Amino acid sequence: MFENKGRTEIEQLGEFGLIEHLTKNFELKNNSSLKGIGDDAAVVNFEGKKALFSTDLLLEGIHFDLAYTPLKHLGYKAVQVNLSDIYAMNGTATQITVSIGLSSKFPLEAVEELYQGISVACEKYGIDLVGGDTSASKQGLVISVTSIGYADEKDICYRNGANEGDLLCVSGDLGGAYIGLQLLEREKGIFLENPNIQPDLEGKDYIVERQLKPESRKDIVEALKVMKVKPTSMIDISDGLASEILHICKQSNKGCNIYEEKIPIDPMTYDTARDFGIDPTVCALNGGEDYELLFTIKQADFEKIKNNPDISIIGHITEPASGCNLISKSEKVHPIKAQGWNSLKHSTE
Ligand code: ADP
Ligand code: MG
Repeated sequence: MFENKGRTEIEQLGEFGLIEHLTKNFELKNNSSLKGIGDDAAVVNFEGKKALFSTDLLLEGIHFDLAYTPLKHLGYKAVQVNLSDIYAMNGTATQITVSIGLSSKFPLEAVEELYQGISVACEKYGIDLVGGDTSASKQGLVISVTSIGYADEKDICYRNGANEGDLLCVSGDLGGAYIGLQLLEREKGIFLENPNIQPDLEGKDYIVERQLKPESRKDIVEALKVMKVKPTSMIDISDGLASEILHICKQSNKGCNIYEEKIPIDPMTYDTARDFGIDPTVCALNGGEDYELLFTIKQADFEKIKNNPDISIIGHITEPASGCNLISKSEKVHPIKAQGWNSLKHSTE
């Protein structure tokens, strides 16, 4: 891996040289970033707002496979999956820290690519890189991102605020990241059997991008503010719609009905799932990694959101005793179960 390009061993730079090299082009953009990289801790000032924090850990072989994940995309995605958690609180994301563990197989050029992806994400979403940590790793690549943001207390959306009669809404479309992963895994398998066969991902850009280069939904949080809609509860869809709906219902002590025909699924996701012999609805319910927002709103807010093409109403909140149900296209009632992440987790081991 990485042999074809120039290869500079990280040891040549040393830890401080590496940090300086990777971070020198990051500039602070937010007024709230008082001190970024270079001291013992970053300093932020949110002036009376509530501060939000969220961390994710990504391990090679568990969360990503470098056989088909370009490092630039990985850097971008590592930031997006984290920002998504701040947006899911209805907050504004402003800073991140990035910690990395590197095994000796990674030359400087590889880490540069990773940081290019991080940089593009920071530019696009207005985020400052304000710190991190760097270490050697015995095996593989480790990345941990912490995202920091703020919100007015009255604007924060928790998972536990859903009320009976609220409408369940979802942004974008679901299942694409999972079916994109199935496609990448299939092509990897073919390549391993016969390295002369090049991957055939033609015409599949959308679902491959959904997997490799997801976008967090800052735009939805902003659109809701403009429409003067404050969700009563909100969560981001990292583990699949089923699991996230159950989180909202459990924490809010409510039930729900969702309608299969209302679940937004892109035509390419739908067709590719069918080609794989997988039910597209199952991809949406249990696939995960879509990083869309799932939220509940008061019925009175229906008029404000109904014309937004990026928001689908998929059901409503009920009393807890009726449970959490999916009403199928043939009008059968199925209790929603969270598929254990073990069964669908894309471990590459
Ligand atoms: P310390 O010894 O206090 O942990 P370091 O030498 O690890 O400090 O880090 C020096 C500075 O560089 C700190 O501001 C730290 O947050 C930042 N930093 C370290 N590693 C990274 C990284 N991988 N990405 C971004 N910033 C980093
Ligand atoms: Mg350190």
